[in-house]
Amino acid sequence: MFNFATQIIKQKQTTYTHKMETTCKNYEKCPIYNGILKDKATTASNYRRKYCDAGHEGWNSCKRYLVKEKTGFCPPDILPNTFRSIDEIIHEMEMMQKLS
Ligand code: SF4
Repeated sequence: MFNFATQIIKQKQTTYTHKMETTCKNYEKCPIYNGILKDKATTASNYRRKYCDAGHEGWNSCKRYLVKEKTGFCPPDILPNTFRSIDEIIHEMEMMQKLS
């Protein structure tokens, strides 16, 4: 009995650790899910699977993640697969800052 309970606890810890390692650290507060993708459940689900829950490889192919890693912020309207480069996005952010 004790071994069975210990085994269950270990499985839960493994599952939790796995989730922690595969989900992007920005996911809980990522503005696209309550903003630009709010009414697009299928698209949101596809983005989440391809980027947010895809571990380091997924996050590192997300333009939002990369911009935030470089600057500490990413505008809420940038999608993970935007055609713009990281440098272009950051340049636009700098230009917007100068105009405000
Ligand atoms: S969209 Fe990008 S930055 Fe936002 S949670 Fe997903 S991987 Fe992270």
